[in-house]
Amino acid sequence: MKPIAFAIFAAGTLAFAGGAQAQQIDYAKVDVKTTDLGHQTYMLEGAGGNVTFAVGKDGVIMVDSQFAPMHDKLKAAIAAVTNQPVKYVVNTHFHGDHTGGDEAFAKDGATVVANENVKKRLASGSINGLTNAKTDGVTGQALPSKTYGSALTLSVKGRSAQLHHVLNAHTDGDTYVVFKDANVISTGDTVTLGRYPNIDFANGGNIKGMIAACDAYIAMADAKTKIVPGHGNLTDKKGMQAYRAMLVAARDRMKKLIKEGKSEQDVIAAKPFADFDKQVGANDQSSTNFIRVVYNSLKPAKKM
Ligand SMILES: [Zn+2]
Repeated sequence: MKPIAFAIFAAGTLAFAGGAQAQQIDYAKVDVKTTDLGHQTYMLEGAGGNVTFAVGKDGVIMVDSQFAPMHDKLKAAIAAVTNQPVKYVVNTHFHGDHTGGDEAFAKDGATVVANENVKKRLASGSINGLTNAKTDGVTGQALPSKTYGSALTLSVKGRSAQLHHVLNAHTDGDTYVVFKDANVISTGDTVTLGRYPNIDFANGGNIKGMIAACDAYIAMADAKTKIVPGHGNLTDKKGMQAYRAMLVAARDRMKKLIKEGKSEQDVIAAKPFADFDKQVGANDQSSTNFIRVVYNSLKPAKKM
């Protein structure tokens, strides 16, 4: 893991700031906040992506594992509500703020489960398309031990989790998890609230897939569904509709600019999303980054 590259994700508004100024997280000072979602299902917030976990009679199913140094604190937060061991850790995608704790949870006995593209990206290493920062590949128990293609159901006694792969959304390996008995959906970074979402275009991400994921959540949600985003506050169907509307407007405006023949520099100068900046609390850097990821995910392939 590259702590510097990922520290900026946890810093919120500085989501994609370049490497040099990125601040390290002081993990000793991070508190884990537990939110009871009902029906023995919980959300954890600490450093990195949000965690969801469901408690069964003989084990726990957990979604995402934050940064590696958070393992002990996450484990303690789970132990505060159940004596059951973590049987499964599901990765919503390969980024280190969601998979950093995998190795330690695997050593504790958990099976780490992800879409097959997550394993490929973690093993090969990856490059951030915005910053060109390189993340090295990992081996052994830092890799998922169970992978799947389009859908998978995981069960512990009395509980189950439905895993669904979304094609080319935040990355090319996204999973969202449905805990039907608790009416909870865990979205990973296809949904990021309180700041602009990242779209990892260099690793298969595309704004069209982000919108398709939102369509799926809205279609399956009712007024009581609790939706755990990859980052930001717990939300619901209404919150999802507002987020989707922002993505759709961003896609449509960018498509128009691309059709007019605008370059990446042109679209950055045009500030096409200025009206969203305040809503999401974006600064110049995060605003520019969102323009760049939307542009790069939609731009036509280079002519040979
Ligand atoms: Zn991510």
